Order: sequence, then structure tokens, then C-alpha cells
Amino acid sequence: MQTQLNYPRIITGLEKRWTILQMWFTVSFFIICKYKSPLKFVKIIKKVINLRNRYTVGNTYNKLAYVDGRVFFNFNNNGWPSKYFNRIIDIEARDAVYQDVTNIENLRMVLIAFTKKCPLNCEHCYEGAELNKKDTLTLDDHKKILKKIQAAGISTIHFGGGDPMAKVNDLIELLESAEKTADFWIFTSGFNLTEANAMKLKKAGLTGVSISLDHHDPEFHNRFRRNKDAYKWVEDAATNALKANLVITLSVCATREFCTEENLYNYLELSKKLGASFVQILEPRAVGNYEGMDVLLSSEQEQIIEHFFVKSNEDEKYKSYPIVLYPGYHQRKSGCPGAGSKYIYIDTDGYMSSCPFCRNKKTHILDDTHEASLQEMKSEGCGKFELLN
Ligand code: SF4
Repeated sequence: MQTQLNYPRIITGLEKRWTILQMWFTVSFFIICKYKSPLKFVKIIKKVINLRNRYTVGNTYNKLAYVDGRVFFNFNNNGWPSKYFNRIIDIEARDAVYQDVTNIENLRMVLIAFTKKCPLNCEHCYEGAELNKKDTLTLDDHKKILKKIQAAGISTIHFGGGDPMAKVNDLIELLESAEKTADFWIFTSGFNLTEANAMKLKKAGLTGVSISLDHHDPEFHNRFRRNKDAYKWVEDAATNALKANLVITLSVCATREFCTEENLYNYLELSKKLGASFVQILEPRAVGNYEGMDVLLSSEQEQIIEHFFVKSNEDEKYKSYPIVLYPGYHQRKSGCPGAGSKYIYIDTDGYMSSCPFCRNKKTHILDDTHEASLQEMKSEGCGKFELLN
């Protein structure tokens, strides 16, 4: 018997409003039960609304993605309902009432480079210089890292690389050993995401997969990924992720060549067919394999993407299409959440950086100097944008 494909449902209109209302109800109930004071409640709600407004400037969350019984805004926040959905609210609440939140507790998301191994060497890879060197972090190290960041309460954890699917058995063991207090995601080219592996990962606790797809045209994608099978991997990985009820994000590095309206809408069309809940558009940066190269988008190209981003999320015509995420838009409008403010990158050797693109290597995550390092990152800020506080 063939396994069924579990396509996501994109929620809009009245149903979306009703869902958001229920979320506010559970959040309010949580705050009242925990803080037991109307004054504190008002103070906390004000802070939460203020933060939401900064995060969502120019984007009113017109759509939500419903997968496997939960609703997702994006893949950097926890799905609702879940036991840990209120974790961010709790951090905001503690900060509003007691101001006792440590730098590590204040992080919303951590991206861990799980391995240097990868079968590809893509045109833009930010880990190009490290690819396929001997891994310095063992599975045991990864267990310690996970334990440390989960002890700090971090509830969104992403695994990148290299390609984490190059060491899938270790990844499964790591997920099995993890506390079930977070949403876990992997960033992959689609390599090795067979049906059996997708099922095992889901069972071990994986929430979703962010699959890199850099063009709707297979030839362009394969050229960019420098492998004739890369596009096929994406198609197969998406099918297998749907079978396993994993949330799918398709992530594109929008190069100058890619940046046309036609390409963006064709890409969205394909993403819907592949069953994606989200499409993430990343801008090329002159790091890794692109180091020293003139790859940044022009402001006209940024505007093409911004226009697409707003239209595809707000226009009735696209209401059943995947939700488009464009971090560059929010970074320009409200600030960057990286640099120890809301998230960090842990590189393939275990050292902390502001993000995969701003590689200001700090201390090792397992050292007990993380608070000072995070503070240093925050003081240095993001090299490109104002920091989101
Ligand atoms: S798949 Fe990812 S890690 Fe591997 S070469 Fe491409 S960009 Fe780099």
C-alpha cells in the first residue's frame, strides 16, 4: 500500500483570525495562571504586543500553515498548540516583570552546524572552506551541546552543516536523546531523505525540513548545486517529507540572475506542488564560496522580492499558496534578530557566531563563557543592520 502524502493546509481569513484568537486566549491564560496579577498581566501583554509589532512590521500574518495537528507562523517559532509554545511568552514575561533573563535564555533559536560532511559543493556555500574535513565534534559532543541549550529552555533548534543528512544515523540518535521540549528542523539539499529516513526522523522528534531549492528550472538548480541529481533529490525529499508529516520549507538563494518576477512566481507555483508550507528567500552574501565576490543584490532587485513577498502573502489569489518568508525585508525594516539578540549560529567546530554569514567566531558553546560571548556579540551588533532587541 502506498503511503499517503500529507499536504499542508494554508489557513486564511476568518479561520486564521479565529486561530489567532485562540492562541491569544491560551497565552493570556498562561500569563494569568503564572503571574497572578492584573498589573503584571498588562505589563507583559504590552511587551509581547510590542515585540510582535516589531517582528511583523509590514506583514500582518495573513496566512498560517497547518501540518500534523499544529499551526505554524514560520519555521523559527514553535508550532501551536504545543507544551513549549508559551516559552517565548514566558521569557518576555520574566523580562517585563523581573528582568532576570540571561543572554542564553533570551535566544529564540539556535542553528547548529551538525557536520562538515556534504556530497555537494554549491556555488554559494557559506561553509565551503570546511566541507568534508574531518568532523571535530563527536555525537557525544552534540549531545552535550543540545543538553546545554535545552537546559536554557531554547525551543527552536535547527541543524545545518554540511548536510546533516550525511550523518543521518547520528542525527536520529541525537534527536532520540533530546528532551521533547523543542521543535527541531534540518537544513538539507534533500540528499538521503528517503522515505525510511524521513519516517525515522519524524519518529525521533523532527518537526520539519528546510530543503534548498535554488531554481524552479531543474537545469539551473543542478548547475548551482554542481550536481546533476540535485533537483531530483529535492523532489524526492519533499515527497518523503510529506509522507512523514514533516513541515516543509523550500529555501532559495535569490541570486541576481534569479531575481525576476517571473522566476519568483514560477518558484512559488512549484513550491505549492511540492507541498511546501513555507518558501524562504535568502539574499546572497559575500562569504564562504562567494567570499570576495560581487554578489549582493541591488536595491531594485530587493524591491522586486519585497513586492513579491507582500503580494504573495496578502493577495487573495495566492491564499492557498505557501507562506513566503523574506528575512531581508524584516532586517531592513525592524532590525536583525541574530548576533546573540534572538539567535546564534554554532559552527562545525562548536564555536558561536552571530549568524552563518557574520562569522565573528566567539568561544566554544560548551565553555562556561557563553554569557560574556553573547554579550560581546550583542554589543558588536550586526554588521549590516540595526539589531532587533
Ligand atoms: S548542500 Fe549546503 S552545506 Fe552542502 S555544499 Fe551546498 S550549501 Fe554547502
